[in-house]
Amino acid sequence: MAQATPIFNFSAGPAVLPKEVLEQAAAEMLDWHGSGMSVMEMSHRGPEFISIYQQAEADLRELLAVPPNYKILFMQGGGLGQNAIIPMNLAGCCAQPATIDFVHTGSWSGKSIKEAKRYANVNVVASGEAGGFTAVPQQASWNLSSGAAYLHICTNETIDGVEYNFVPDIDARVPIVADMSSHILSRTIDVSKYGVIFAGAQKNIGPAGLTLVIVRDTLLDDALPICPSAFHFKTVAEHESMYNTPPTYAIYIAGLVFAHLKKLGGVAAMEKINIEKARLLYAALDADDFYENRVAHEYRSRMNVPFFLRDESQNDKFLAGAKARGLLQLKGHKSVGGMRASIYNAMPLEGVQALVDYLNEFAGR
Ligand SMILES: *Cc1c(COP(=O)(O)O)cnc(C)c1O
Repeated sequence: MAQATPIFNFSAGPAVLPKEVLEQAAAEMLDWHGSGMSVMEMSHRGPEFISIYQQAEADLRELLAVPPNYKILFMQGGGLGQNAIIPMNLAGCCAQPATIDFVHTGSWSGKSIKEAKRYANVNVVASGEAGGFTAVPQQASWNLSSGAAYLHICTNETIDGVEYNFVPDIDARVPIVADMSSHILSRTIDVSKYGVIFAGAQKNIGPAGLTLVIVRDTLLDDALPICPSAFHFKTVAEHESMYNTPPTYAIYIAGLVFAHLKKLGGVAAMEKINIEKARLLYAALDADDFYENRVAHEYRSRMNVPFFLRDESQNDKFLAGAKARGLLQLKGHKSVGGMRASIYNAMPLEGVQALVDYLNEFAGR
């Protein structure tokens, strides 16, 4: 089948993967490296899969410069699973019930707050709700608890398009837990500033079904007694993420993505391209008042770009025209409407350029 128009997929997740990775996975589908087996068919305890797992772990450690006193866990249950798994693992640190501090910056931190209430007292230290979730509340305005078990933030709100441009500077005894599901590996980070980093894989890493957790080793053993063994950080860490069967194929694809990122120059190189992609797209949205992105400029996400047409009666026409040009999955999240372009690592600059060309054409520029 001849494919005249290149396809660019702007889905928020599950999302686009690097073409090279999918091609390699296809080539290795039936017989991984002469083993005679598909990765899906391998025992997670066999030497073949162990080598895949160890390479993925080592590559991720290198890409994010994860310090040796941090464990990398390959878990299941998604980002929403972590909303329960993290309080169950950390809230046992102190007198019961523990208090957890949250910054409410949009839909995903909102869900985290709701879930945590089942396990602890919740203190919302600041909220962007009154402003329609268009900014991260300034840290000076946060009303932090004394003796909180931890502070939870969502460093990139996938639906609202709000991204932190700073790391909170708080009492060093209070660990920072960061939901980085939709921007992990898109920019350099200092892992040592966080107690726990977690990310569902299906946004910027690989297939759904894998959840990455990076946790400081001092936080492995503060679990509430109700915490299930399969989700207990210490148990998972002691078993090298194989207390129960891990999502082997998803780990394999994630490993291919990590190797691919290394080949491209690592996270710093990706960040450079991501800055350029975001600059191009926001410039087209800001060019006149045909489109609108409502997020304060300094907190605009480099990964998820929600926008509205001023004349919303043109939404269907806009989406149909986009699809005809190979620009897919631009419809906004149902809770906010409008459009959303997710421009993760695997979205090439040419994809953003194609979208910008279409935005200009549709606006009659
Ligand atoms: C997608 C997403 C989640 C939820 O992930 P699931 O895998 O569906 O549980 C959580 N947090 C953020 C920031 C997300 O983008």
